[in-house]
Amino acid sequence: MFKIRETKQKQLIIDLIENSKNHYTAEEIFNIIRKKNSNISRATVFRNLKRLSENGIIKKLELSGSADRYDVFNPHYHAKCIYCKKIIDLKIPYNVELNNIVSSHQVIDHDLVFKIVCDKCKKKEG
Ligand SMILES: [Zn+2]
Ligand SMILES: [Zn+2]
Repeated sequence: MFKIRETKQKQLIIDLIENSKNHYTAEEIFNIIRKKNSNISRATVFRNLKRLSENGIIKKLELSGSADRYDVFNPHYHAKCIYCKKIIDLKIPYNVELNNIVSSHQVIDHDLVFKIVCDKCKKKEG
């Protein structure tokens, strides 16, 4: 019984992340899930996010200057708008070779975040 509920809660989180182009913070994920499932607690959502990212099912994005965000696990690079802080997925190839360049340590993964001015902010600027 408990297991089924636990699985269902995890699935809600996975579905939300996989079906969204946004990179939500834990707080945002909680608020969205809470709207449809009023009985789910903040602690449960946060605990599940931690477990899912530890198990490599979702990815925790640790970006400087903003709260941790959650994303699909499939490796890709990001661009972050220097003005509105919006995070965008980039459709450029993920370079696995980069992991081999660092031979002095055991490399698990790497992230690249490009600093950009997004289309919306570009319009405001001009
Ligand atoms: Zn922007
Ligand atoms: Zn992403």
